Amino acid sequence: MTIEKHHSITLDEIVAYEFRCGNPSCGARMMIIAATGASVPGRCPQCGHTWLESSSPEAEAAEKALKQLLQAFANVVRLKRFLGCELYLQLRSSKEGENAERN
Ligand SMILES: [Zn+2]
Repeated sequence: MTIEKHHSITLDEIVAYEFRCGNPSCGARMMIIAATGASVPGRCPQCGHTWLESSSPEAEAAEKALKQLLQAFANVVRLKRFLGCELYLQLRSSKEGENAERN
């Protein structure tokens, strides 16, 4: 038998969004406080690697989806009293050792 642990959070428990640079030689992290709005940095503040671009329809769609997701989170938190349910995000527990590789 396998026992898996999960944690759940509500959207208003999200305090910040962390962006990590996708440039393998950089890896800089940038934190945006969720309550202040969801502005997504266009470039890495450390190495200048482009985080958002409109070089292709797919890249444009990805940028748009990310911005819409963060805006939708803020809207749900603001308007949740009008919903008859509450959204919980279920998070997978990180396995030992896996977390060290990611961080
Ligand atoms: Zn970078």
